[in-house]
Amino acid sequence: MATIPRLYIDAPLAASGLVALDDEQSNYLLRVLRLEDGAPVRVFNGRDGEWSASVKKASARRAEVTLTGQTRPQTGQIRPPLTLLFAPVKKDQTDLIIEKATELGAARMVPVLTERTQTRTVRTDRFRKIALEAAEQTERLDLPEIADAAGLDAALDALPEGMAVIFCDEAGEEAEAPWGGEAGRARPMLEVLAGLKGRPAAILTGPEGGFAPAERAYLRGRAETWPVSLGPRILRAETAAISAMTLWQAVCGDWK
Ligand code: SAM
Repeated sequence: MATIPRLYIDAPLAASGLVALDDEQSNYLLRVLRLEDGAPVRVFNGRDGEWSASVKKASARRAEVTLTGQTRPQTGQIRPPLTLLFAPVKKDQTDLIIEKATELGAARMVPVLTERTQTRTVRTDRFRKIALEAAEQTERLDLPEIADAAGLDAALDALPEGMAVIFCDEAGEEAEAPWGGEAGRARPMLEVLAGLKGRPAAILTGPEGGFAPAERAYLRGRAETWPVSLGPRILRAETAAISAMTLWQAVCGDWK
């Protein structure tokens, strides 16, 4: 049986309500999916759980949905919450980071403009659209928050008190070394996570050129910050972000 389409609607959801859809949502249901009157859909708004509904053609180009019943109660956010602080990289790879972070349950994402970040123009409206579509597909009941881009200090200073920062550090102990290689690597992430269970955490990954020596020295000296190694190879930024979130979910998150 084809999956029943699932739509995020920013409107109150209550029994036997009728909810009007916007142009984009109407176009998706009526012209892309070619749904007829009465076709089933599922809707969620991040507050009232998920509801079954049926499509109602209000006009040739406009659709509404008639709510029929709640299929899933609203559950709280994933506890503890995971934040991803990521240096934006090339467009497609950054899109991948946003999509995968949504699937992997990130509660909040912050594009961090570090010294070596090459991509300085950050389209958060685009990121929010990618995250919304990924939340619909991954059956989340909430949307991750996509914060505006911030510098490294500002992004860290804005974190809630006591949040553990997991600093993906490919360069090891040597602040000046471009790559830790065989010497001075940070502790394996899995080992570090064993001591961070139950704590809200922020994973930090750098740009294509890595973190600058001054940034790395600052991060390694910062309280509540744990440098971690993701193994003996240099991962692309998107691979590092996805790998680190996967490990965190498996040890500290909701993959139990
Ligand atoms: N400095 C690297 C080099 O010399 O080519 C490039 C940085 S890497 C492409 C982008 C980011 O991914 C890094 O800043 C780090 O946050 C993360 N990363 C990549 N490989 C890693 C590893 N083995 N351990 C920890 N973090 C890693």
